[in-house]
Amino acid sequence: MPAALHPERLPPDRWIKVLPEGLYVEPGGFHIDPVRGVERAVITHGHSDHARPGNQLVFATPGTLAIMAQRMGEAAAVVTRPLDYGETIRIGAVTVRLVPAGHVLGSAQVVMEYAGSRVVVSGDYKRRADRTCLPFEPVPCDVFVTEATFGLPVFRHPPDLGEVGKLLHSLTLFPERSHVVGVYALGKCQRVITLLRAAGYDGPIHLHGALEPLCALYERHGVALGELRPATVAAKEELKGALVLAPPAAATDRWARRLTDPVVAMASGWMRVRQRARQRGVELPLIISDHADWDELTQTLEDVAAPEVWVTHGREEALVHHATQRGIRARALALIGFEEEEA
Ligand SMILES: [Zn+2]
Ligand SMILES: [Zn+2]
Repeated sequence: MPAALHPERLPPDRWIKVLPEGLYVEPGGFHIDPVRGVERAVITHGHSDHARPGNQLVFATPGTLAIMAQRMGEAAAVVTRPLDYGETIRIGAVTVRLVPAGHVLGSAQVVMEYAGSRVVVSGDYKRRADRTCLPFEPVPCDVFVTEATFGLPVFRHPPDLGEVGKLLHSLTLFPERSHVVGVYALGKCQRVITLLRAAGYDGPIHLHGALEPLCALYERHGVALGELRPATVAAKEELKGALVLAPPAAATDRWARRLTDPVVAMASGWMRVRQRARQRGVELPLIISDHADWDELTQTLEDVAAPEVWVTHGREEALVHHATQRGIRARALALIGFEEEEA
């Protein structure tokens, strides 16, 4: 828009700063997903690379606040301000609302309006169906700050139900063997369970103890998971031919080896990289991701139609190049401290 029509317009890179502790929205006096405790933080979701302890005041969805409280207890925040999806508030001089990101329960994009511009920070997101959270909602904006965990054309996630089908097929081929699936505790675990249910598996699913609290939290938030049972390695016999979910480290370590001739599977977007699967001794890699793949990333740039894109959190270069070729002003944002919890 011509500057004369909007003399008050201030380019977003003048009011959103990249500081060592993370993105800082100056006229609002708040950070987004800071890497250490700050005065005021807007938190996109509960993964540990985004939600950290020690903040004074935290703005987040009720789902994210519940996850933070469960994982960090009192350290989660001194004061919390729950923000429902779509609720609009002012923080300092900035108008803020959270909209669904489709990543995990409670995950949100941060929509900010200030000085004639709308900026959307995606947080982590995906575009495919997920029964455990509300779907990503594209918001047209002037600047879109996108994650790029799988920001290379080589990353194209296959259909989720096909991956879960491989697991169910293996169960029918090897009915005597325990099937142990490595899943991250927050998000992936509950997503894999709902995918199994969607694929028609209604038997009990056994959980490593570390996965139980967040499954209970999801159920309290209305996500039905079906029959879950504790997986105690002692009860080996019961676990023959059973589906067992465990944190990645337990699934690929001694914990799982104590079961009877286990089939070790792992559900992760990184399972596309065969070498990673082999290194970890994963027999049955399942490419199931809670992050957008290349097609979802590029589709999203079209959907939000932002003339300017800031790329962060992953493989920035290819997406910056792709956007630039399509006439979008694009640059990589060098944020430090974002080592994917799920990586
Ligand atoms: Zn995440
Ligand atoms: Zn992340």
